[in-house]
Parts: sequence; C-alpha cells; structure tokens
Amino acid sequence: MGRVLAMLTAAAAVVACSVAAVMVRGRVKRRRKWRKVVGLLKDLEESFETPLGRLRQMVDAVAVEMQAGLVSEGGSKLKMLLTFVDDLPNGRERGTYYALHLGGSYFRIIRVHLGGERSSLEVEDIERHSIPTSLLNSTSEVLFDFLASSLQKFIEKEGKESSSSQDVKRELAFTFSFPVKQTSLSSGVLIKWTKGFAISEMAGEDIAECLQGALDRRGLDIHVAALVNDTVGALSYGHYHDPDTIAAVVFGTGSNACYLERTDAIIKCQNPRTTSGSMVVNMEWGNFWSSRLPRTLYDIELDAESLNSNDMGFEKMIGGMYLGDIVRRVILRMSQESDIFGPISSILSTPFVLRTNSVSAMHEDDTPELHEVATILKHLGVPKVQLKVRKLVVKICDVVTRRAARLSAAGISGILKKVGRDGSGGGEGRRRSIGKQMMRRTVIAVEGGLYSNYKMFREYMDEALRDILGDDVARHVVIKAMEDGSSIGSALLLASSHSVRTISNI
Ligand code: ADP
Ligand code: MG
Repeated sequence: MGRVLAMLTAAAAVVACSVAAVMVRGRVKRRRKWRKVVGLLKDLEESFETPLGRLRQMVDAVAVEMQAGLVSEGGSKLKMLLTFVDDLPNGRERGTYYALHLGGSYFRIIRVHLGGERSSLEVEDIERHSIPTSLLNSTSEVLFDFLASSLQKFIEKEGKESSSSQDVKRELAFTFSFPVKQTSLSSGVLIKWTKGFAISEMAGEDIAECLQGALDRRGLDIHVAALVNDTVGALSYGHYHDPDTIAAVVFGTGSNACYLERTDAIIKCQNPRTTSGSMVVNMEWGNFWSSRLPRTLYDIELDAESLNSNDMGFEKMIGGMYLGDIVRRVILRMSQESDIFGPISSILSTPFVLRTNSVSAMHEDDTPELHEVATILKHLGVPKVQLKVRKLVVKICDVVTRRAARLSAAGISGILKKVGRDGSGGGEGRRRSIGKQMMRRTVIAVEGGLYSNYKMFREYMDEALRDILGDDVARHVVIKAMEDGSSIGSALLLASSHSVRTISNI
C-alpha cells in the first residue's frame, strides 16, 4: 500500500512538473511572440516617421515641383492645370444657380439663390447620395444618364413657389473631382480617372459635353455652363465669404489643392487672357511625388494592386479612400507574422474592406475596454483579441493617420512657400526673421469628409503646420473648414462669371 502511494505521489509530481514546464514554455513562447509584435510595431513607426527636417524638405520639394509644373506642360508630376478662373466670387452675385457635384464617394445636387450680398446666399435645396459602386466601372452613357436622371428627379421635386420655377433656362455648374484639362471655364477633357473609377474610353472626352448630351437626351432644359474642379469650387466658396482665401484643399475620398497664382508666373500659358492678373491653378497634388516621401512596403503593395499603379502616389498616402487599406495591410501582416490576432482572417485579406471611417472610430474609441475596436475587428473576422492587441490596433491607426496629416501639412506649407506666405521671405528655404508687418492674413479653405469627420487627422495637421511654419507665421494662417463648399462654390463661380440671370432678377 505504502509503495503504491509512493508511486502515485511520484507520478503526480512528474505530471505537475510537466504541466509547469508546459506553462512556462507557453509563457516564454507568448512573450517571444509579443516581443516580435513589439518589434514589428517599432519598424512600422520608424518607416512611417515624418520628422520635421523631412517635412521641411517636402515643403521645398512641393514648391519646386509647383514651379516646374508652371513652366512647362509635363514639367512635373504636379500637372498645375489652368482653370480659366481669374475672378473669384465676391458676394455681389445674383440669381438662381444649380450645381451637380461628382465626388469620389458621393454626388450632390444643389440649388442656390443669390440676392446680391453675402448675407443673402440661400442654399435652397441640397441632396447628397452615395455613388453606386456599379457605376465605377460602367460606361460613359450609364454614368452620365445616371447623373442626368438624378438631376431630373431633383428638378421635378421643385415646388411651384420656388424661385427656380421659371421660364429661363436653368444654369448648372458641373463640379467634377477628377483631373480635367480645361479648355475654357465651361469645357474640358478628362485626363484620367482616379479614386477607383475605371470607366473605359473616356479619357480625352469633354466632360461638360457628356453631361449636356445626357441632359438633352432626357429633354431637360438645363445648360451646363461651367465645369469646375471641386477644389476650385471650394476656393470660390471660401473667397466669397473671406477675400483673404488664396487656396483650397480637399481631404475626402481623394486629395487635391488649388490656389491663386499670378498669371506672369504661369509661364507655360502664353496668352492667359485674364483681367485680374491672376488665375486659379488646379495643382492635382494627389500626383505629387518626391524621394522625400516616406514610402513603405505597404504603400508599394497598395500601389501595385491599385487600378492606377505608379500614379497618384501622394493621394495614396493621404486620401480617405486609402488610409483604411493601409491600416488593413499592417494588421494583416502582423496577423501573418504572429498569432496575436488568432487564425488569419480571409475577410482581412480583402482589399478596402476596412474603411477610413472605421479607422477614425477605432482611433478615437475612448471606452476603457476599446469596445469599438473589438466590434470593428469582429467584422473583419478577428473576434476576441486581448485588450493589449486592441491597443496595438489603435496605435497602428495613429501611426498611419499621423503620417497622412503631417504630409498634408507639408503640402499646404509648400503652397504657402510658393506664394511667399510661409514667412521665409521668398528665400531658398532660408528662414529670415519675420517682421510682423510682412505677414498677411492667409486663409486656406479646407473641405472633405476625412478632414471634417476625423478629429485626430485635423489635430495632427494643425500641429504639423505650426511645427513647420513656426508659431509667428502659423498665427497668420487660418485653416477654414467648410461643408459642401465645393458644390456651393461652383454655383457661386458660375454666377460671378455669367451674365444670364434668372427671371427672378429681371
Ligand atoms: P467625396 O470624396 O465624394 O467628395 P467626402 O468629401 O464626403 O466625399 O469624403 C468622403 C470620404 O471621407 C470617405 O470616403 C472617407 O474616406 C472619408 N471619411 C468620411 N467619414 C469619415 C470619418 N468619420 N472618419 C474618417 N474619414 C472619413
Ligand atoms: Mg469632395
């Protein structure tokens, strides 16, 4: 009996030792895996770093590329497109005007009534709809017929008492957020699609004519009287309310900027035919490129798998369409290289399955247990991860968004440098002491869903602007956020350029 007991005791001791050994091995293994994840995070942070020195080099590069793009056609990846807009709205416009705005994710239709002074601007109706994804790779006919039918419904809905129920032809501005080579204020040809649009055989087509054709086919008595890039619409709206506005930047599905340039600086344009001595230039800054951009493995892969590879490199680092996908790629890689996210999720392997609005929701999740992060990860096929892993995901969102916001700030500072409003006194990057009287108040109009809905993006951008410009200069630079400015502004621009008035003003 005694021997049996001794044997059992010995066996139990052996089992206990083995269990302890397995537990210790498990803990050591887990710790080693976590260390690997920490290493991956460190690599991520390093590769996404945007130190001030690098941002300043980018500012210089933006200004240099702007200059090159103004000198000759194809002189830079920045297209620096002429817009034929030489006068911006000033508040004295009158009449009723329409705008149809095709963005990257949404289209909007608006009707505005202008009474001849700023305070009388009335947005009488506005509609905003998601662009059906089936349109993105449809045909020109399908796209423009869809837009025409949406406009038809909008018009049919107008009340009889509306100031727009009229005998005079309706005047419409077409706000278009893709690169167009303008041939006049009311015409221009598509250079290429961006932001996931891939409608074949449209490059080289006159966009305003395409829309006019679709409206005519439906028997709609509407005249497409202006073709306006969305940034130019935003600048018009900004300038209407505040004449110190000299540039506009859109941070939405994609990103782009325009600014007011002296015509004598637009060397590639032999005969600018402007009366004001300046013209708005559409930079198409999404295509900016510089060796100073912190390009990572994730950017390279995203670009290679995109519909427009080797194109729009800057937009792919800062645009709302892409930030979610960069975060997704990072999480996927970490889940492939460690098991902290559990088995590799097939959902997580799907391009664009993580949207940027989910990135901001995770980034700004202020619940102690990070419930929002847990819910979004669950939708990505990654249920039940530890709190420390959820915190890691928040950190990834932070790293990706911070880089985007800081690069955006460098882009804006590049414009300021080009127009001599960065406080450097126009020197070659040399920072001179600034006499306060030299600095003029400078307003940059900003709009887009990424900027308006993502607080951390805004905060990082503001912080980087102050870092780059210094407090003394940054104090004179006002970033003014606007909602629907590009749609409303296009209608204002049309009003300021157009002499035909609606019957309500006759
Ligand atoms: P469009 O690009 O069609 O003109 P918006 O300016 O409204 O439309 O931008 C829409 C884009 O803004 C979305 O595709 C998304 O990338 C981004 N966005 C919208 N809401 C959020 C959000 N809450 N957080 C972060 N990004 C957002
Ligand atoms: Mg937009």
